[in-house]
Amino acid sequence: MKPGKELLFCALGGSGEIGMNVNLYGCDGKWLMVDLGMTFSGNEYPGVDLVFADLDFIEENKKDLLGVVLTHAHEDHIGAVPYFIEDLGVPMWATPFTARLVNDKLEEAGLIGEVELNVVHDLEPFQIGPFTISYLPLAHSIAEGNALLIDTPYGRIFHTGDWKLDDDPRVGVPTTQEELTAIGDEGVLAMVCDSTNVFNPEASGSEGEVYHALLEEMPKHKGKRVLVTTFASNVARLQTLGEVARASGRKLCVAGRSLDRIIGAAKASGYLEDFPPVIRFDEAKDVPRGQLLIVATGGQGEPRAALSRITDESHQLKLERGDVVLFSSRQIPGNEIAIGRIQNKLASRGIEIVTDRQSPIHVSGHPGRPELEALYGWLRPEILIPVHGEMRHMAEQARLGAAYGIPKTVFQGNGDLVRIAPGKPGKFGEVRHGRLVLDGDIISAANGDAITMRRRLAINGMVTVAIGAKGAVEVAGLGLPLDEDYDRFVAEARADVTKALGKLNGPAQRDRALRIEAARLAARRAATRWSGKKPQVQVILLGD
Ligand SMILES: [Zn+2]
Ligand SMILES: [Zn+2]
Repeated sequence: MKPGKELLFCALGGSGEIGMNVNLYGCDGKWLMVDLGMTFSGNEYPGVDLVFADLDFIEENKKDLLGVVLTHAHEDHIGAVPYFIEDLGVPMWATPFTARLVNDKLEEAGLIGEVELNVVHDLEPFQIGPFTISYLPLAHSIAEGNALLIDTPYGRIFHTGDWKLDDDPRVGVPTTQEELTAIGDEGVLAMVCDSTNVFNPEASGSEGEVYHALLEEMPKHKGKRVLVTTFASNVARLQTLGEVARASGRKLCVAGRSLDRIIGAAKASGYLEDFPPVIRFDEAKDVPRGQLLIVATGGQGEPRAALSRITDESHQLKLERGDVVLFSSRQIPGNEIAIGRIQNKLASRGIEIVTDRQSPIHVSGHPGRPELEALYGWLRPEILIPVHGEMRHMAEQARLGAAYGIPKTVFQGNGDLVRIAPGKPGKFGEVRHGRLVLDGDIISAANGDAITMRRRLAINGMVTVAIGAKGAVEVAGLGLPLDEDYDRFVAEARADVTKALGKLNGPAQRDRALRIEAARLAARRAATRWSGKKPQVQVILLGD
């Protein structure tokens, strides 16, 4: 599918879900991709960590794809780059901090020199085919959050990226209200906007407030070790914690590989310049308890991250009864159980827990309703296209925008082809879309045979039947709740399979498919009789 004399929008990921953002703009025969993100898998796909958008549509049209513009360095915006960029074979654009983290990924994947990564150092517009693009800094929970201003022959798009309003962001200089109003004065055809926090009736709050709240926490815990867990990528929060350590006379110790990586990238990009020296784990042991501030990854309950290991006492850094853990991060939906496990363990060890419910030690990086309405008012777009949300978030933002007075809203999901101009904006078609998983080293369909079978095995267990050339039968079960009855089940299943095979008459005795099916049914019935379960049965015919 090739865009004609028109301006198109199509999300391949990130619309109808929070994660794996992949957005396409089409114009005068060409496509432009904005962001190439991934999602972390929950329990949905057993044995899988990473989930990607199915890019088949754009891979088939890659001769018309001009490049990928990356808004910011969160994994839901850049995480799929190392897995797909070589095949797409197009250049990328990013601001320095984002480019640095993308470069780390390319290096890890052995792709340095194989793909083109353009670093955009200033806010000057640049041209990619029919698209003229400028980065516009907006506050977010990472350094260099950016909106994109995309000018086309059919009008101007304001692609918000992930954003919030913050008059004290601690790091970076967001585009001002006056500058955004001036953009609105020039006319915005379509605003493609973050929907994550549309149900939040309040504004997100400022990093400056978090700084003061964290500073106020320290004197409350005199003589105690304080551990703060936060997202590694939140450079402003790290800046704040550096200042809090210095102001409260505590030495700073950092636990977690992603923190080391982000601090390195941030310093190389001109951030965290006055970050205090970081002490090693073995040095931390000798620091008096009340003079140590630990920053650790793992606030989402990730079992291999530093906080989890410190909690389980399998880390060089130790916490004792009376010490304090501050959760300076939000609970991502789906992680409540894992976070609860860690908090319960900490509580049972007599370690105090402070979350953003007791003290404003965290603010979100996404806009609440007052912020959305403020931006609508400054930009005054003709069309609102909500993205970056589940269906309920995007539908609600469409309602909010319409109620505010935006003339047209387009409610769309992954795979919908939307014509922005000319004519009445709206959906006019659908392209292939879906999810892929990284399963071991293989990228495959998220609901393909392997994952489907793995789910069944996890739920029902498995029975293997081996049939020898001379009719000998062996049975083995895995994951069946039989314990001491297991041997009797095996004996009965063997007898049943032998009997079922014996009942086959004439040519059926030599028909492999019929023999396998008879054995499968007999073994499965035996398993159901003994356990109430309906396991997967694998029959192996040896010999003929
Ligand atoms: Zn983000
Ligand atoms: Zn995002």
